[in-house]
This record gives sequence, structure tokens and C-alpha cells, in this order.
Amino acid sequence: MANPCPNAKETPVLAKPNLDEITAANWFALSRRAVLTEPVIDEPFFPTIDLLQSRGQAQVAFHERAARVATEKFGRQVFLRGVVEVSNFCRENCAYCGMRRDNRTLARHRARLDQLAELLVHHRPDSITDVNIQAGEDPVVVREVVLPLIRILRRETSLGLSVCLGTLNRSLYHELKSSGASLYIIKFETACPEFYDKMEAPGTFAERIEHIRLLASTGWHVSSGFIAGLPGQTDAGLVANFALARELPLAGCSVSPFIPGDETPLANAPAADIDLTLNCMAALRLLRPQWIIPAVSALNLAEPGTGYRRGLRTGANLVTINLTPPDLREDYVLYKRDRFIMTEERILSAIEAEALAPSKQCLADYCRQKTTARARRAAVQVTAPMNR
Ligand code: SAM
Repeated sequence: MANPCPNAKETPVLAKPNLDEITAANWFALSRRAVLTEPVIDEPFFPTIDLLQSRGQAQVAFHERAARVATEKFGRQVFLRGVVEVSNFCRENCAYCGMRRDNRTLARHRARLDQLAELLVHHRPDSITDVNIQAGEDPVVVREVVLPLIRILRRETSLGLSVCLGTLNRSLYHELKSSGASLYIIKFETACPEFYDKMEAPGTFAERIEHIRLLASTGWHVSSGFIAGLPGQTDAGLVANFALARELPLAGCSVSPFIPGDETPLANAPAADIDLTLNCMAALRLLRPQWIIPAVSALNLAEPGTGYRRGLRTGANLVTINLTPPDLREDYVLYKRDRFIMTEERILSAIEAEALAPSKQCLADYCRQKTTARARRAAVQVTAPMNR
């Protein structure tokens, strides 16, 4: 393999240890400067385009491998959250999204705070541990509805709180976090800057990535993601999504199949191939076994009736019940008016049919524990040499 850092000085090989003689009991006796010249860990997983396009037996084995890794990490548990879509106003103009600002055919609404608070405090399904508050990019709804709603939910419930509100400013991020939200969902959409521009995705690519890093560095758990099968996406572009996701400081990552949106410039383009999308899900699971990877509702648009359940068989560990009040839901149009709504009944029967069970652990708590464990490990690594 080519040296990725050609200018780095090579570490001199002082001794070649006999690997057969190293045991758990005597590993500390290895010279600290000794270099293990035989491979002792597997190459980290990274998908090839052939794997992402696999079908037949190779694909079955690939999906089973991803599902096995998910089970090893999470057992048969999947996190179960509710989502409320609180505004379809959007200042962005993404070519793929039905809520884009140029769509003048859409009646625009914001949710009422009292209606959402009543719903989530008193009438939410017992099974959910977390709520995600989602909207078009609409700072007005953030101030008027989202922030007070988060404060109410923090005071009245023990729900984990996620938000998916687009690219905002530092002070809004800070207010959202100090009010009680802890997970920010902000997708990079595509890893290719020129393609990002072409798709008119939010702001600029550089800004989106900067915000993902900013959120993570200011204490948010961040989940990102990309769209598979966007018209014009190249093989190299698809693979680049994994290279970018791997570099970002993420707690989770999603892949959504492209679904042509009504009243968008891509309305007549073909929808993403379900197999490609599921292969991307499997690859994300193998890339980062500990990630939160959702089964998105659009899987059932890409393959009606079976897409969602296949997603649950491909390493997903998060499902989402749509709790948006029906009057608002009708105009929250990412794709078509004819949405596939993931109700509590549909979700619970899908996970039961796949022999999965709702996790009792809150997603926000899982992320917090992971971060604490990582910080502890990092502290041990820093202090260990000092203790020698
Ligand atoms: N406005 C917020 C933002 O930009 O992060 C959040 C809401 S946005 C509508 C949610 C996500 O829907 C986007 O990040 C995008 O990945 C996805 N999406 C929108 N239109 C889509 C389409 N036609 N096919 C697949 N995914 C789409």
C-alpha cells in the first residue's frame, strides 16, 4: 500500500518479537519501541463500488454480515423515537426537496406550541424514548416553537431530544443545547462539493461541513447522512460519501434513497434503487459498528411494502414514529403528498416481524455514555505514560 505520509520519518525496527510467545500475561514485556511487523488487526472496512453494487448471494452475505455486527453491538434492540415536523417554511432551495423555497404551490405552516406540548407531554406513545424535532430551515420556528417546546419537554419528561433544523447560527445552536437538546441531525447530503452546489444543497458544502464540526466541538452529538441515487451521482461520488462520513466526528449516519419530489427540478428523475440504498446502509454499519443508523421511512417509497423491513435486516438500529399532527403533515412534503407515514402500529409490527424489540435505553443516554467512555479511554491514554 502506498505510504499516505511520504515525508514522515520511519520508526526504526529494533526487535522483531516472536508473536507466538506473546500472551495476555506478558504483553507488557514487549519493548516499548518494538514494532510488530506482522498484521495483528484486520484492515478496517471500507466499501468498494463493486460491493455497493452487489446483488444475489454476495449481497445477501454482505447484509447478513452487517446485521450480525449490529446484533453484536446492540443485541436485538432498536432505538425508538418520535418525530414532529414543525415547519415547512424553508429559506433553502435544494433541487431534490419538495419544501424548497421556489415551490410556490405549497401552503406553508408552522406548528402551534401548545398543540405539540400537549401531544408530547400527555399523549405520546409509551414506546418512544426520544423525540426529534424537524423543520425546513426556518429560524423563526426555532425561536417561537422549538426552543419553548424543548424547555417544556425537558421540564416535564425524561425524553432524549434531537433536532434537525438545518444550518443555523452559533447562538441558536447554543440556546437549543442549553435548553436541553443533545443530538443534532445535519446531513452533508453528498461528499462532492461541485455536486453539492449543483444540487443547490443548503449554503455551501464547506459551510455545512464546518457546521457539523462546530456542533460536535461544542458538545453536540451529531448525526449526519447522505442521499443515495441522486440523479448525476457518480460511482466515485457515492464511495466518497463513506470517506467523508468516516472523517467526521459523528455519533450516527443515515442514507436516504433519492425520491423524486413533486414541484422540484428533479421531479421526473428516477427514484434510487432500493438495493443500492440498502447496500449503503450495510456499508455504514460495517464502517462504524457503534453508529446510530436509522431505517428511514423513504425505504418504503423506494420499494413499497418491503423496503423498510429490508432496512431493519441490514444493520439499522433506529426507527422513527411520525407524530406530526395530520393537519401539518399534509404540507410537509419532502417528496410527494402521498407519503408513507410510519405510525406506531406500523413500526411496532415491523420490528416485531423482524424479531427486534424497542430499546428501553434512551438514544440520547446511549450517545452520552459512548462519549463519556471515549473521554475516559482518552484520559487513560494520556495519563498512562505519565504513570510509567
Ligand atoms: N432543513 C433541515 C436540513 O437541511 O437539515 C432538515 C429538514 S430536510 C427537509 C431533511 C432531509 O430530507 C434532508 O437533509 C435531505 O437529506 C432529505 N431529503 C429531502 N428531499 C429528499 C429527496 N427528494 N430524496 C431523499 N431525501 C431527501
